[in-house]
Amino acid sequence: MLIVTEETCQEVVDRAAAFDAVEKVFGAMARGDAYNFPVIREAIGHADALYGFKSGFDRAGLVLGLKSGGYWPGNADKGLTNHQSTVVLFDPDTGRPKALVGGNYLTAVRTAASSAISIKHLSRPDSKVLGMIGAGHQSTFQMRAAADQRDFERVIGWNLHPEQLPRLEATAKEIGLPFEAVDRDRLGEEADVIITITSSFDAILMKDQIKPGTHLACMGTDTKGKKEVDPTLVAAARAFTDEIAQSITIGECQHAVADGLISEGDITEIGAVVNGTKPGRTSDDEITLFDGTGVGLQDLAAAAVAVELAVERGVAVTVDV
Ligand code: NAD
Repeated sequence: MLIVTEETCQEVVDRAAAFDAVEKVFGAMARGDAYNFPVIREAIGHADALYGFKSGFDRAGLVLGLKSGGYWPGNADKGLTNHQSTVVLFDPDTGRPKALVGGNYLTAVRTAASSAISIKHLSRPDSKVLGMIGAGHQSTFQMRAAADQRDFERVIGWNLHPEQLPRLEATAKEIGLPFEAVDRDRLGEEADVIITITSSFDAILMKDQIKPGTHLACMGTDTKGKKEVDPTLVAAARAFTDEIAQSITIGECQHAVADGLISEGDITEIGAVVNGTKPGRTSDDEITLFDGTGVGLQDLAAAAVAVELAVERGVAVTVDV
């Protein structure tokens, strides 16, 4: 079995590699060649932890495995990241373990790849202003991946905890873009593309705050009860997602569906847009919304590419099991 450490993942998997792997697996999902198994997520009654599995099989890419991990709120006091995850890949021909891969960095790059894929396929090509809502760990990955897709001229941002805004400013500077902290009205008025990446349980953006032609990538809602935008905004937009089953249960669309504002038939899988079998944006005026719920196949795709590149460069560790 191979071991690919967190450090090695950071060394070998760049944004482009993660983007290609995730775009490919979204396409395979929409063709029915790859599917996710039901997600398990449990409060384990120890260390206040939430622990679970996301798993699936990509029959086209022959990638089988799971990501296991969760959220340990006390980790920060121990100098560790609260979110912890590890991927295990199996040989689909024999069931033998193939690789153990660090999942923390890969989670961030595969999540950023997912919103970047939505920006590539759904945002107006002339988008100039990127709006960021959320300034936590994921936000820097999100901003960098978005900036690969469009010629943004500036970044504007809002966060519930303003003391975190310097993180957005520093990332924008690194990319070479000016940054300004703004209120939510200005963010909606000025941004052409908006990424939401927060742990919010209440709507941060309302329908009236968004201008026609905006693309929203709602990336924070990955659990029942979480919410980043008002359900009437979801209903006013053309909605896209990574996986419909997750979108209507744990994603941003869960509330609009529960309120009877939209049904699952109104949501399009982004993989179908990638494959060219369903249209993406059809006019400059429509609001598009990508509900990025985070599927296990994204993790497996990113881990498989990490293994491939680590082997190629001779930096994977081999152990007998
Ligand atoms: P983090 O803890 O580093 O940052 C949390 C962010 O949410 C900060 O900007 C914080 O100010 C903001 N926030 C916290 N409570 C809030 C509230 N009540 N209302 C509004 N904003 C609030 O977390 P992170 O690692 O950056 O992750 C952000 C979110 O993204 C989490 O909800 C996480 O579960 C989710 N996530 C989703 C995916 C996916 O695939 N869709 C992948 C990874 C993380």
